[in-house]
Amino acid sequence: MTNISILGSTGSIGRQTLEVIENLSDDYFVDALTAHSNVDLLEKQVRQFKPSLAVLWDEADAMSLKHRIGNICEVAFGVEGLKQAASLPSTDLVVNSVVGNAGLLPTMSALDAGKFIALANKEVLVTAGEIIMPLAHSKNINILPVDSEHSAIFQCLMGSHQPPAKIYLTASGGPFRGKTKTDMANITVEQALAHPNWSMGQKISIDSATMMNKGLEVIEAKWLFDLRPDQIHVLVHPQSIIHSMVEFEDGQVLAQLGAPDMRLAIGYAITHPNRLPNPFKRLDFTIHNNLTFEQPDKINFPCLALAYKALEAGGHYPTVLNSSNEEAVALFLDKKIRFLDIPSIIDKALSAYTDKNKHLTIDSILETEIWAREFVISNS
Ligand code: NAD
Ligand code: MG
Repeated sequence: MTNISILGSTGSIGRQTLEVIENLSDDYFVDALTAHSNVDLLEKQVRQFKPSLAVLWDEADAMSLKHRIGNICEVAFGVEGLKQAASLPSTDLVVNSVVGNAGLLPTMSALDAGKFIALANKEVLVTAGEIIMPLAHSKNINILPVDSEHSAIFQCLMGSHQPPAKIYLTASGGPFRGKTKTDMANITVEQALAHPNWSMGQKISIDSATMMNKGLEVIEAKWLFDLRPDQIHVLVHPQSIIHSMVEFEDGQVLAQLGAPDMRLAIGYAITHPNRLPNPFKRLDFTIHNNLTFEQPDKINFPCLALAYKALEAGGHYPTVLNSSNEEAVALFLDKKIRFLDIPSIIDKALSAYTDKNKHLTIDSILETEIWAREFVISNS
């Protein structure tokens, strides 16, 4: 029996996680569900999955939910509620599908409580991988990647007694692959949200359009698989069929392939080390009969180079990268800045930051997050 807490259950990954669980055997239970503010959907999920705890961000929303669901389950709110959902004594596995660095404190609570974590939230590894991974190792806690590229690498490394020589993270190239900065000068929010292969939350969709998503994934891979930056290669593969690859010392390459469907990666993170059947669509090689590869365009998509720069600098620079990106994406979605302002403001934030907090702690990461967000707001 596996009891699962889903942080961010109303989002794209959260909803797909519930679909995966619905299609698994009766051995998988939903223990907690959390959402930012979508009371209607959370109510529906609570009625269907009957968790022991439901959490919303605001107290007023939590009160509204409580009023609607009566005593189906306990209701909590805010960061304390999220931390509670991440550390319930009855929970075996925490699926962290919150977006952004907001997932950091609940991740720490899950680790402190010794829970296995299926991690979709890449931002927390970008900001705090240096703290999270050693802590997880010291407590024998599995961090199971949900991000499809990292799930692919994880699967390619299963049973290998040697570390990889290098990895290839594949990237679709996003909706603007092949475009120049001039072409992208007047990109609208609607155009940037229209990803060719994946249907995802708004923030990651914009990250895919700027290619910051791949930049964040490079840093995520560094921490998950203990790699040097020069071992992590990005390869544009527009069909999104090969989810990533590993090259070993002897030149042999292992790849993981599958339909571009996040439910497969979510399912594997939940059932690992087992593989259980599911009804989702299979790959048809007679349709996907042309797999192509190209180098990423680092000139027109500078976010990828900025991510490598932050990774090389280390310390709090990845937090500056991530948090200035989170703020810039929010401003773009609010139509307050233009698409190409996103990389330029992140570049400025990285240049303006001086790593005063040499020692990396959760508190220093949260302070740096505030600094980066304020920098973006006052410089845009
Ligand atoms: P989303 O925006 O669709 O959902 C985010 C969820 O987090 C929602 O339930 C929302 O209510 C909750 N949330 C948002 N802000 C919060 C806050 N401040 N406090 C508490 N809860 C909050 O996002 P998504 O696309 O599901 O992505 C979630 C994470 O998974 C991201 O880190 C993303 O990079 C990663 N990821 C997503 C996909 C995908 O296909 N969607 C693929 C790979 C990785
Ligand atoms: Mg990914």
